[in-house]
Amino acid sequence: MDIAYFNGNFLPKDDIKISPDDRGFLFADGIYEVIRWYEGFFFDMEGHMLRLKRSMKEIRISWPEADAYPSVAYELIVRNNLQNTPSLIYLQITRGAATRSHAFPSPAVNLTVYSFAKGLRPDKEKTSAGIGAILRKDIRWSRCDIKSVSLLPNILSFQEAMDAGCHECIFVKDGLITECAHSNVFFVIDGVLHTHPESEDILSGITRKNVLHLAHDAGIPVSLTAVPETRLKDISEAFITNTSLEITPVISIDNKKVGDGKPGPVTRLLREKFDAEIRAFKG
Ligand code: PLP
Repeated sequence: MDIAYFNGNFLPKDDIKISPDDRGFLFADGIYEVIRWYEGFFFDMEGHMLRLKRSMKEIRISWPEADAYPSVAYELIVRNNLQNTPSLIYLQITRGAATRSHAFPSPAVNLTVYSFAKGLRPDKEKTSAGIGAILRKDIRWSRCDIKSVSLLPNILSFQEAMDAGCHECIFVKDGLITECAHSNVFFVIDGVLHTHPESEDILSGITRKNVLHLAHDAGIPVSLTAVPETRLKDISEAFITNTSLEITPVISIDNKKVGDGKPGPVTRLLREKFDAEIRAFKG
């Protein structure tokens, strides 16, 4: 039976009851985090906690127990017997349940805090052979830096990718590539690694940040500038990054091959460095 964390308690998931007046349900008034468990440690828990606190600050909620969350996450791993299984931890915090009104509840109500763990079957085929992506207009809001649970544009775009037989949707905003439906995106042009700079147009990915460190250590030149859509014809490699897919090559965009249609050398090098870092943490 899956055990989840709900408002301070560990409960069988099926016993959890959330009010229909929860603002997460009515307004998507909440934020979330997804953290990777690598059979022995959480990947960059500190980075995730910093991003969580930032998201909370931006939407003006405060969760005094936030600093204790890493031990809650570990307890979820243990209670669900996932110590030796690659897993993801999901945490969602909403502004709580109150009669529907756009204004924040006054007086404030208790937040709704929900977290669960689930085993992950890493898709080695995708991460080594690469995926196809589609390119679409970025139809999201202007605060993509907040990890908001309001993901309808991402869902619609991602489903469009799936319907086209692809596994990601790359977004274009005002002629510039921002990121993807559920990942950040990198391109190699003339040997230089490009990705969108941190801004309100992208989520500051934890994997993105760590890949940038790896690129720096490997002496790969990096340019934190958004790639114009018109330069896609010049890219030799592309890859996406996120917590579950880590570094995954993109081998076609809108049915056009990227480079020679195979994961390129920069992508493979970063992938090797990433895997080595995980192995080193595992000890
Ligand atoms: N961008 C978006 C829109 C995402 O949803 C995600 C992850 O879910 C990312 C980027 C990558 O973030 P991270 O590397 O922290 O998983």
